[in-house]
Parts: sequence; C-alpha cells; structure tokens
Amino acid sequence: QVKQTGRASYQFYTPELDRHADEAHSLEARVRQALQQGGLRLHYQPVVDIRSGRITGAEALVRLCDREGDMVGPDRFIPVAESAGLITELGEWVVAEACRQRGVWREEGLTLSIAVNVSPLQFRQRDFAERLSGILADNGADPCGLEVEVTESAVMDNLDEAIKVLDRIKALGVKVALDDFGTGYSSLSRLTSLPLDKLKVDQSFVRRIESDQASRTVTGAIIALGHSLKLDVIGEGIESEDALRYLQEHGCSLAQGFWFSRPLPADEFAQWCRARQEMHSAPVQVS
Ligand code: C2E
Ligand code: MG
Ligand code: MG
Ligand code: MG
Repeated sequence: QVKQTGRASYQFYTPELDRHADEAHSLEARVRQALQQGGLRLHYQPVVDIRSGRITGAEALVRLCDREGDMVGPDRFIPVAESAGLITELGEWVVAEACRQRGVWREEGLTLSIAVNVSPLQFRQRDFAERLSGILADNGADPCGLEVEVTESAVMDNLDEAIKVLDRIKALGVKVALDDFGTGYSSLSRLTSLPLDKLKVDQSFVRRIESDQASRTVTGAIIALGHSLKLDVIGEGIESEDALRYLQEHGCSLAQGFWFSRPLPADEFAQWCRARQEMHSAPVQVS
C-alpha cells in the first residue's frame, strides 16, 4: 500500500508503522485509565547543595504504572498525553500529588522544596497561574515550597504572554526554573527579560563533562551566565565525581543526578534523605 503524502513523497505503510500507531493508541488508553483509576506515580530525585552537601529539594517525575507493576517513563507517554488533550489534567494531578506528598513529609520533619515539570501546552493556558493557585489552596499547600520547571520553548514562543504568566506565578510565591537550558533557541537578550529563579543546565552537557571539551565549555558558560543574571544554577545529570567536581569548581550551587540518586518512589526517597542526613550530621571524629 502506498499513500501519497506530498507532491513527490510517498509513505509506505509497513507493519512497523502499524505497530507504532497501535502503541500510541494503547498508551493513550492507558493514560486515560491511569488518570481515572489512580495509575500514575511520582518518583522523586534529590537536589543537593554541592557546597554543603545538604539536600534542598526534590524533582517530582511522573510514571505510568499498570497492575502488573510495569512502569512506563514520561518520555514515552507525555507526548501521547499532549496530543490526546490529556496533559493539563495529568499536569494538575502532578501538582496536587506533589503538594500532598510535601505536606506528609513536612509533618514527618522532612522539609523540602518540590519541583514539578510543566508541559508547554499546560503553561500556555491563559489562566495557568490561577489554576495553580487553586490547586495549592485545595491542598493547603505553602506556595513557597513549590517550584515549576518550564522549558525554553514554552516561554520563548510567546514571550510577552509568558512574562505575564510567570509574574503571576511568582506573585503567588511559587518559584520558577528554566529546564534543559542550552538545548533550545533562547536568545540571551530574551532570557534577561524573564522573571526566573533558577537555570537548569541540560544534562546532555553535564553528562559529557569528562569526555568532551565543548560540553565543559558550555557548562561553564551557562553557570557564569546564570550567576550574572542572579539565578541559582542547577547541574542536571551528574553521573560521576569528576562532573561533580567540575560544577563545584565553577561555582555551581545545586546538582542532581544518578551520582547522588536515581528518582525514587516516595518512601524510598524519604529513607534515602534520612540516611544521608544522618551521615552528614554525624559528629566529626576527633582523634
Ligand atoms: P527533565 O525534567 O529534564 O528530568 C530529568 C530526567 O533526567 C529524568 O528522566 C531523570 O530520571 C533523568 N536523570 C536524572 N539524573 C540523571 C543522570 O544522572 N543520568 C541520566 N542519564 N539521566 C538522569 P525521566 O524521569 O525519564 O523524565 C524525562 C522527562 O520527562 C523530564 O525531563 C521531563 O521533561 C518529562 N517529565 C517528567 N515528569 C513530568 C511531568 O510530571 N510532567 C511533564 N509535563 N513532563 C514530565
Ligand atoms: Mg525537569
Ligand atoms: Mg531537564
Ligand atoms: Mg528533559
């Protein structure tokens, strides 16, 4: 079978393409079902202050679980949720669940700021800030404990509108981070006009710090840029001690990566934090 898709371009329908279409379909059904029946989970990855070693927060990362305990990662189902018109519902569940979990941990004496990822489609809703405010209120959550991560494309495509929304988010007390920085197409002059708190250096650079001079240069330049804009800079994707040291030497204050911990289910995350806190507050041995 051949379908004409353009003047001189033909696309062949193959079992391979059918398989992709089927997969997207069944994933969409699974996302729908998960939203209705509670099949989404948040995993948490620690954010560490690499000057003091203290844990300052966590990034909440969504997973799709099914009854067999199988887990699907967000890179696969977020695009499906976006094209199926389900991303706002999903994103709002994430905010509510992160607020609920933060409240539980605070009661247990673990006070953290929690970052959530926001899809460009969700962010571009006109009333995004008002909806966020509503979710915080419904959960009795302190806005100062929440951080939203937006991507360059979400804010740069319609800069004036984005600035208005960001101003409203910040007026609530919620913090804003620009995620995956360095991979998009932000012009630096536009960056200076955005009301941000944090810049997250994309992990594609950080992961190549040991092996690639260009990645070191870019990472160093982004850290310097962030600091000159008075932003906190987070290095993402720290997988080695060398990468950690490089960030420390360049004055980066915060970091995240498998070197510290993979994203963990809530209970394991709390255990990890307690073990690490004990380690760091252990009395210094004097010999
Ligand atoms: P992101 O926001 O940039 O999140 C960081 C991703 O890098 C996570 O993948 C995390 O597990 C992974 N990571 C962290 N440290 C390391 C490391 O040292 N090495 C390597 N190789 N990877 C590391 P994950 O959880 O699969 O999430 C992928 C992306 O999916 C996220 O990228 C984010 O863009 C999106 N996402 C996750 N949760 C949500 C959500 O609730 N809503 C929306 N809209 N998007 C989400
Ligand atoms: Mg993120
Ligand atoms: Mg990122
Ligand atoms: Mg990413």
